[in-house]
Amino acid sequence: MIVERPGRLILVPTPIGNLSDMSERAIETLKAVSRIACEDTRTSGVLLSHYGISTPTTSFHAHNEHGKATRLVESMIRGDDIALISDAGSPGISDPGYLLVRAALDAHLEVTSLPGPSALIPALAASGLPSDRFVFEGFLPPKKGRQTRIKALVEEDRTVILYESPHRLKKLLTQLAEHAGMDRQAVVARELSKKFEEFRRGTLEELLAWVNDVTKVRGEIVVLIASPKASQRLNEAPKSGEAW
Ligand code: SAM
Repeated sequence: MIVERPGRLILVPTPIGNLSDMSERAIETLKAVSRIACEDTRTSGVLLSHYGISTPTTSFHAHNEHGKATRLVESMIRGDDIALISDAGSPGISDPGYLLVRAALDAHLEVTSLPGPSALIPALAASGLPSDRFVFEGFLPPKKGRQTRIKALVEEDRTVILYESPHRLKKLLTQLAEHAGMDRQAVVARELSKKFEEFRRGTLEELLAWVNDVTKVRGEIVVLIASPKASQRLNEAPKSGEAW
């Protein structure tokens, strides 16, 4: 078999809560490739059928990515273009992707990513915390190494962005307060781009009071922590008297 050109790996971001955030280019790309590797073929099936995309799919997730990466690379070498999508947002960002990107590059294949939805950027952009320099940490380890990581992060001189599950939010805010102090400015961005999108901005003390007040925090969450200096500036800034 003569292959005129090897295929490419294209990472395609998908909406994080609002189907209308799917770009035209993302739809065209998913229609044009030979196969779509999905974190969960059933979850992505809903999105794909909504946009009339009938490209064959295959699963690519945390439990099969090693073996699957090899097979997908072989298929790209044979000339197939492969798109990778995750359940929501950008593949490779707290989602499977890195391993396949690395395997494709090691095989000298072309790798590209479409720009598109991801929870961290809208959370940062609308947080009101400095957005010129930031560090994205994704999910903290649930147990081992968590305290060490938190200790270092609260000393950061850039805005820190974390992903967290709603049932661990109270624990995270409490641990952050232990190391950063109750007066550290932070933001909880919840359900971005969805019907009940919400930004809670204030000190860790205020955020903990809110968490204790609501029976159960639901939905998807991004937590942002101001650096010690930015927090001090915000705490000293004159307030308009209105909640922000
Ligand atoms: N790949 C995704 C991205 O690009 O943002 C992240 C996937 S990660 C498995 C899922 C986590 O992202 C959630 O637990 C939450 O922390 C964050 N997240 C995803 N969608 C969100 C949304 N609509 N609002 C707030 N946070 C969200």
